[in-house]
Amino acid sequence: ALSVIGIHKVFGEGAAALPVLEDINLAIRPGEFVAIVGASGCGKSTLLRLLAGLDTQFEGVLLHDGEPLKGTSTQRGLVFQDHRLLPWLTVRQNIDLALLNAGLDTTSRQQRIAASVEQVGLTPFIDAWPHQLSGGMAQRAAIARALAARPQVLLLDEPLGALDALTRLKLQQELRRLWQEEAITMVMVTHDIEEALYLADRVIVLDARPGRIRKEVPVDLPHPRNRNAANFVALRD
Ligand code: ATP
Ligand code: MG
Repeated sequence: ALSVIGIHKVFGEGAAALPVLEDINLAIRPGEFVAIVGASGCGKSTLLRLLAGLDTQFEGVLLHDGEPLKGTSTQRGLVFQDHRLLPWLTVRQNIDLALLNAGLDTTSRQQRIAASVEQVGLTPFIDAWPHQLSGGMAQRAAIARALAARPQVLLLDEPLGALDALTRLKLQQELRRLWQEEAITMVMVTHDIEEALYLADRVIVLDARPGRIRKEVPVDLPHPRNRNAANFVALRD
Protein backbone atom coordinates (compact mmCIF):
# COMPACT_ATOMS: atom_id res chain seq x y z
CA ALA A 1 0.00 0.00 0.00
CA LEU A 2 1.03 3.59 -0.60
CA SER A 3 0.29 6.20 2.06
CA VAL A 4 0.41 9.87 1.23
CA ILE A 5 0.08 11.89 4.41
CA GLY A 6 -0.14 15.67 4.55
CA ILE A 7 2.06 16.27 1.54
CA HIS A 8 3.04 19.84 0.74
CA LYS A 9 5.31 20.63 -2.17
CA VAL A 10 6.74 24.04 -2.98
CA PHE A 11 9.08 24.81 -5.88
CA GLY A 12 11.58 27.61 -5.29
CA GLU A 13 11.83 29.74 -2.19
CA GLY A 14 11.30 33.23 -0.81
CA ALA A 15 9.49 35.59 -3.16
CA ALA A 16 9.78 33.00 -5.94
CA ALA A 17 8.15 30.21 -3.92
CA LEU A 18 5.49 28.35 -5.88
CA PRO A 19 3.25 26.09 -3.79
CA VAL A 20 2.23 23.22 -6.07
CA LEU A 21 0.71 20.58 -3.79
CA GLU A 22 -1.10 21.33 -0.55
CA ASP A 23 -2.21 18.86 2.09
CA ILE A 24 -2.50 15.82 -0.15
CA ASN A 25 -3.75 12.73 1.71
CA LEU A 26 -4.25 9.44 -0.05
CA ALA A 27 -4.23 5.76 0.79
CA ILE A 28 -3.72 3.49 -2.18
CA ARG A 29 -4.48 -0.16 -1.55
CA PRO A 30 -2.43 -3.00 -3.05
CA GLY A 31 -3.91 -4.03 -6.37
CA GLU A 32 -5.98 -0.88 -6.69
CA PHE A 33 -6.17 1.09 -9.95
CA VAL A 34 -6.25 4.80 -9.16
CA ALA A 35 -6.59 7.50 -11.77
CA ILE A 36 -5.57 11.10 -11.11
CA VAL A 37 -7.19 13.81 -13.22
CA GLY A 38 -6.97 17.59 -13.09
CA ALA A 39 -6.21 20.67 -15.13
CA SER A 40 -2.84 21.21 -16.74
CA GLY A 41 -0.33 22.46 -14.17
CA CYS A 42 -2.26 21.30 -11.11
CA GLY A 43 0.63 19.13 -9.92
CA LYS A 44 -0.17 15.64 -11.23
CA SER A 45 3.32 14.90 -12.56
CA THR A 46 4.85 16.42 -9.45
CA LEU A 47 2.81 14.04 -7.29
CA LEU A 48 3.83 11.01 -9.41
CA ARG A 49 7.49 12.02 -9.22
CA LEU A 50 7.19 12.17 -5.43
CA LEU A 51 5.59 8.71 -5.39
CA ALA A 52 8.36 7.38 -7.64
CA GLY A 53 10.96 8.77 -5.25
CA LEU A 54 12.47 10.95 -8.00
CA ASP A 55 11.85 14.09 -5.93
CA THR A 56 12.64 13.91 -2.24
CA GLN A 57 12.09 17.61 -1.43
CA PHE A 58 8.67 17.82 0.18
CA GLU A 59 6.86 18.20 3.48
CA GLY A 60 4.77 15.35 4.84
CA VAL A 61 5.10 11.60 4.86
CA LEU A 62 5.18 9.07 2.03
CA LEU A 63 5.07 5.40 2.96
CA HIS A 64 5.27 2.27 0.84
CA ASP A 65 4.03 -0.71 2.83
CA GLY A 66 4.57 1.28 6.01
CA GLU A 67 8.18 2.19 5.18
CA PRO A 68 9.21 5.77 4.38
CA LEU A 69 10.19 6.15 0.74
CA LYS A 70 13.94 6.43 0.33
CA GLY A 71 14.46 7.65 -3.22
CA THR A 72 13.68 5.54 -6.26
CA SER A 73 13.12 1.80 -6.00
CA THR A 74 12.51 -1.10 -8.36
CA GLN A 75 9.29 -1.62 -6.39
CA ARG A 76 7.80 1.45 -8.05
CA GLY A 77 8.07 1.76 -11.83
CA LEU A 78 7.37 5.00 -13.66
CA VAL A 79 6.19 5.49 -17.25
CA PHE A 80 6.39 9.03 -18.65
CA GLN A 81 4.14 10.65 -21.24
CA ASP A 82 6.97 10.66 -23.77
CA HIS A 83 8.51 7.19 -23.79
CA ARG A 84 12.03 8.41 -22.91
CA LEU A 85 13.72 5.47 -24.60
CA LEU A 86 17.38 6.19 -25.21
CA PRO A 87 17.72 6.52 -29.00
CA TRP A 88 21.19 4.95 -29.14
CA LEU A 89 20.00 1.71 -27.49
CA THR A 90 17.67 -1.00 -28.82
CA VAL A 91 14.48 -1.95 -26.97
CA ARG A 92 16.36 -4.84 -25.35
CA GLN A 93 19.26 -2.60 -24.30
CA ASN A 94 16.93 0.11 -22.98
CA ILE A 95 15.23 -2.41 -20.72
CA ASP A 96 18.52 -4.00 -19.71
CA LEU A 97 19.84 -0.61 -18.63
CA ALA A 98 16.78 -0.12 -16.42
CA LEU A 99 17.47 -3.53 -14.85
CA LEU A 100 21.09 -2.77 -13.97
CA ASN A 101 20.18 -1.69 -10.46
CA ALA A 102 18.05 -4.77 -9.82
CA GLY A 103 21.19 -6.83 -9.13
CA LEU A 104 20.39 -9.65 -11.56
CA ASP A 105 22.77 -11.80 -13.59
CA THR A 106 22.77 -11.66 -17.40
CA THR A 107 20.59 -14.74 -17.86
CA SER A 108 17.83 -13.57 -15.52
CA ARG A 109 17.94 -10.10 -17.06
CA GLN A 110 17.50 -11.54 -20.55
CA GLN A 111 14.60 -13.68 -19.28
CA ARG A 112 12.96 -10.66 -17.68
CA ILE A 113 13.40 -8.62 -20.86
CA ALA A 114 11.89 -11.34 -23.04
CA ALA A 115 8.96 -11.79 -20.65
CA SER A 116 8.14 -8.10 -20.31
CA VAL A 117 8.40 -7.47 -24.06
CA GLU A 118 6.08 -10.44 -24.59
CA GLN A 119 3.58 -9.00 -22.09
CA VAL A 120 3.19 -5.87 -24.18
CA GLY A 121 3.19 -7.73 -27.51
CA LEU A 122 6.50 -6.33 -28.74
CA THR A 123 8.53 -9.53 -29.13
CA PRO A 124 9.17 -9.06 -32.88
CA PHE A 125 10.70 -5.67 -32.10
CA ILE A 126 12.89 -6.61 -29.18
CA ASP A 127 16.05 -5.71 -31.10
CA ALA A 128 14.58 -2.71 -32.90
CA TRP A 129 15.85 0.83 -32.42
CA PRO A 130 13.47 3.42 -30.95
CA HIS A 131 13.26 5.33 -34.27
CA GLN A 132 11.90 2.17 -35.92
CA LEU A 133 8.90 2.10 -33.55
CA SER A 134 5.55 3.86 -33.91
CA GLY A 135 4.37 6.03 -31.02
CA GLY A 136 2.21 3.22 -29.65
CA MET A 137 5.05 0.69 -29.92
CA ALA A 138 7.45 3.05 -28.18
CA GLN A 139 4.96 3.46 -25.31
CA ARG A 140 4.65 -0.34 -25.15
CA ALA A 141 8.44 -0.55 -24.89
CA ALA A 142 8.42 2.03 -22.09
CA ILE A 143 5.76 0.02 -20.25
CA ALA A 144 7.82 -3.17 -20.76
CA ARG A 145 10.86 -1.37 -19.36
CA ALA A 146 8.90 -0.46 -16.23
CA LEU A 147 7.40 -3.96 -15.90
CA ALA A 148 10.73 -5.77 -16.29
CA ALA A 149 11.80 -4.75 -12.80
CA ARG A 150 8.60 -6.44 -11.50
CA PRO A 151 7.38 -3.40 -9.57
CA GLN A 152 4.56 -3.67 -7.05
CA VAL A 153 3.33 -0.28 -8.15
CA LEU A 154 3.24 1.09 -11.69
CA LEU A 155 3.08 4.88 -11.88
CA LEU A 156 1.87 6.07 -15.28
CA ASP A 157 2.07 9.75 -16.27
CA GLU A 158 -0.36 10.23 -19.17
CA PRO A 159 1.13 7.16 -20.84
CA LEU A 160 -1.34 7.21 -23.73
CA GLY A 161 -1.77 10.96 -24.08
CA ALA A 162 0.26 11.29 -27.26
CA LEU A 163 -1.34 8.38 -29.11
CA ASP A 164 -4.08 8.31 -31.73
CA ALA A 165 -7.56 7.29 -30.56
CA LEU A 166 -7.45 3.70 -31.86
CA THR A 167 -4.01 2.92 -30.47
CA ARG A 168 -5.07 4.47 -27.19
CA LEU A 169 -8.13 2.23 -27.02
CA LYS A 170 -5.99 -0.83 -27.68
CA LEU A 171 -3.41 0.10 -25.05
CA GLN A 172 -6.16 0.89 -22.53
CA GLN A 173 -7.37 -2.68 -22.92
CA GLU A 174 -3.83 -3.97 -22.54
CA LEU A 175 -3.22 -1.96 -19.39
CA ARG A 176 -6.44 -3.35 -18.00
CA ARG A 177 -5.40 -6.90 -18.86
CA LEU A 178 -1.93 -6.38 -17.36
CA TRP A 179 -3.45 -5.01 -14.19
CA GLN A 180 -5.78 -7.99 -13.88
CA GLU A 181 -3.09 -10.57 -14.65
CA GLU A 182 -0.26 -9.11 -12.60
CA ALA A 183 -2.16 -8.01 -9.48
CA ILE A 184 -0.14 -4.81 -9.72
CA THR A 185 -1.10 -1.46 -8.17
CA MET A 186 -1.65 1.18 -10.83
CA VAL A 187 -1.59 4.93 -10.35
CA MET A 188 -2.29 6.67 -13.64
CA VAL A 189 -2.42 10.36 -14.45
CA THR A 190 -4.62 11.16 -17.41
CA HIS A 191 -6.40 14.09 -19.05
CA ASP A 192 -9.05 11.74 -20.37
CA ILE A 193 -11.94 11.27 -17.96
CA GLU A 194 -13.42 8.46 -20.03
CA GLU A 195 -10.10 6.64 -19.83
CA ALA A 196 -10.01 7.19 -16.06
CA LEU A 197 -13.53 5.83 -15.67
CA TYR A 198 -12.84 2.85 -17.91
CA LEU A 199 -9.66 1.80 -16.11
CA ALA A 200 -9.76 2.95 -12.51
CA ASP A 201 -11.41 1.78 -9.30
CA ARG A 202 -11.20 5.32 -8.03
CA VAL A 203 -10.71 8.68 -9.68
CA ILE A 204 -8.94 11.46 -7.80
CA VAL A 205 -9.67 14.98 -8.98
CA LEU A 206 -7.04 17.64 -8.24
CA ASP A 207 -7.67 21.37 -8.14
CA ALA A 208 -4.94 23.74 -9.22
CA ARG A 209 -2.95 26.49 -7.52
CA PRO A 210 -1.92 24.92 -5.27
CA GLY A 211 -2.93 21.37 -6.10
CA ARG A 212 -5.42 19.97 -3.63
CA ILE A 213 -7.66 16.94 -3.77
CA ARG A 214 -11.08 18.27 -4.76
CA LYS A 215 -12.84 14.92 -4.61
CA GLU A 216 -12.44 11.18 -4.91
CA VAL A 217 -14.96 9.29 -6.96
CA PRO A 218 -15.17 5.54 -6.52
CA VAL A 219 -15.95 3.77 -9.77
CA ASP A 220 -17.80 0.71 -8.70
CA LEU A 221 -20.32 -0.27 -11.35
CA PRO A 222 -19.58 -3.65 -12.90
CA HIS A 223 -19.45 -2.95 -16.62
CA PRO A 224 -16.71 -0.49 -17.45
CA ARG A 225 -18.26 0.98 -20.55
CA ASN A 226 -21.61 1.49 -18.81
CA ARG A 227 -20.30 3.23 -15.75
CA ASN A 228 -19.46 6.37 -17.62
CA ALA A 229 -22.80 8.14 -17.60
CA ALA A 230 -23.31 7.94 -13.85
CA ASN A 231 -19.73 8.80 -13.04
CA PHE A 232 -19.49 11.66 -15.47
CA VAL A 233 -22.22 13.29 -13.42
CA ALA A 234 -20.27 12.64 -10.21
CA LEU A 235 -17.08 14.11 -11.65
CA ARG A 236 -18.63 17.10 -13.41
CA ASP A 237 -19.00 19.59 -10.56
P1 ATP B 1 0.22 18.72 -17.10
O1 ATP B 1 -1.18 18.19 -17.09
O2 ATP B 1 0.36 19.88 -18.01
O3 ATP B 1 1.25 17.66 -17.30
P2 ATP B 1 0.73 18.68 -14.24
O4 ATP B 1 -0.54 18.61 -13.47
O5 ATP B 1 1.47 17.42 -14.44
O6 ATP B 1 0.44 19.39 -15.64
P3 ATP B 1 3.14 19.58 -12.96
O7 ATP B 1 4.07 19.25 -14.07
O8 ATP B 1 3.14 18.70 -11.78
O9 ATP B 1 1.65 19.75 -13.50
O10 ATP B 1 3.47 21.07 -12.53
C1 ATP B 1 2.73 21.72 -11.50
C2 ATP B 1 3.28 23.11 -11.29
O11 ATP B 1 4.59 23.03 -10.80
C3 ATP B 1 3.35 23.96 -12.55
O12 ATP B 1 2.98 25.27 -12.22
C4 ATP B 1 4.80 23.90 -12.95
O13 ATP B 1 5.17 25.08 -13.59
C5 ATP B 1 5.48 23.76 -11.61
N1 ATP B 1 6.73 22.99 -11.71
C6 ATP B 1 6.84 21.70 -12.09
N2 ATP B 1 8.10 21.27 -12.04
C7 ATP B 1 8.83 22.34 -11.62
C8 ATP B 1 10.23 22.55 -11.35
N3 ATP B 1 11.12 21.56 -11.49
N4 ATP B 1 10.60 23.77 -10.92
C9 ATP B 1 9.71 24.76 -10.74
N5 ATP B 1 8.38 24.63 -10.97
C10 ATP B 1 7.96 23.45 -11.40
MG1 MG C 1 2.13 16.40 -16.13
